[in-house]
Amino acid sequence: MKDTFGRIHNYLRISLTDNCNLRCFYCMPEEDYDFTPVSRLMQAEEIETLAKIFVEQGVNKIRLTGGEPLVRKDAGKIIAALSKLPVKLTLTTNGTRVKELLPVLLDSSIRSLNISLDTLQPERFLFMTRRDQFAKVYEAIQLLLEHHFYVKVNMVVMKGLNDTEILDFVEWTKTQPIHVRFIEFMPFSGNRWSSNKVVSLQEILDIIATKYEFDALPNDKNDTAKAFHITGHEGTFAVISTMTAPFCEGCNRIRLTADGKLKNCLFSKTETDLLQPLRRGEEVLPLIQSCILSKAKELGGQFTATNFEQIISESIDNRSMITIGG
Ligand code: SAM
Ligand code: SF4
Repeated sequence: MKDTFGRIHNYLRISLTDNCNLRCFYCMPEEDYDFTPVSRLMQAEEIETLAKIFVEQGVNKIRLTGGEPLVRKDAGKIIAALSKLPVKLTLTTNGTRVKELLPVLLDSSIRSLNISLDTLQPERFLFMTRRDQFAKVYEAIQLLLEHHFYVKVNMVVMKGLNDTEILDFVEWTKTQPIHVRFIEFMPFSGNRWSSNKVVSLQEILDIIATKYEFDALPNDKNDTAKAFHITGHEGTFAVISTMTAPFCEGCNRIRLTADGKLKNCLFSKTETDLLQPLRRGEEVLPLIQSCILSKAKELGGQFTATNFEQIISESIDNRSMITIGG
């Protein structure tokens, strides 16, 4: 699945639902949001059918995401089905339902998970997610470590909100084998983004350098994260610099939304419906191929890293993050 820039797409991210049990303001639209009715979501068998088509075309890594993938009632069934495919299966979750689903995870082919946690302070967690669930998420991370999962912790850094905690997250990697990923705040429809809330890759590294010496770890060409290690620390940290140093050149990702639309980029304006054609018994492969061939060079063709300070998030033509699948 090669695009016009020679990039081969072998990593599929599947959103299982746009529903979520948290309300992170940077992810959800500001106005009241109605979650998509179940009948319009891909059913478990449809997810499996589409996933197999992608695997036949060379996909060797699948990430399940959302919304919150683990709030879906049949999440266990979907994880079990996709575990049988010859892919590296992974999951991005807010962690709140990990404990209930631990037996499913242990039985699955998943060995590495991304857990989102933007603060180590329970009151700030409540403010950012509008739900009092800090302890549950923190305990989920400990539980996964006890069961030897590879745990990456995603922290979206926002100026004046949680940027004062960057060093606390790095300190956490000293004693525990967690892999913290600081994510630059990205603009989506209605998410109160402004460029002055972005803490850049360079600013993050400057803050960490006030206390620690660190070494860059070798990067793979498809990596979105620039990773670092501090001598003597069990874990590592990394920065996902979508805004100030994008990694579009090595992009190998495509995304399937929970309602069965293929997006060739997180920021793509257009999307290709696969679900309705699949339900009508039509061929979806030509649709997938033309979607990939229409992929823009950088950031969905909507902005560039050099002009990100001029972005007005409302002018970006896209869904909100929760409906794309991060
Ligand atoms: N509910 C799951 C979770 O929170 O991990 C999976 C879906 S969530 C949309 C996936 C990732 O996108 C999370 O790590 C979240 O922090 C990140 N994210 C959401 N909105 C974002 C934004 N505006 N900028 C940067 N990252 C964002
Ligand atoms: Fe839900 Fe994840 Fe979005 Fe937070 S970031 S609202 S947990 S989907």
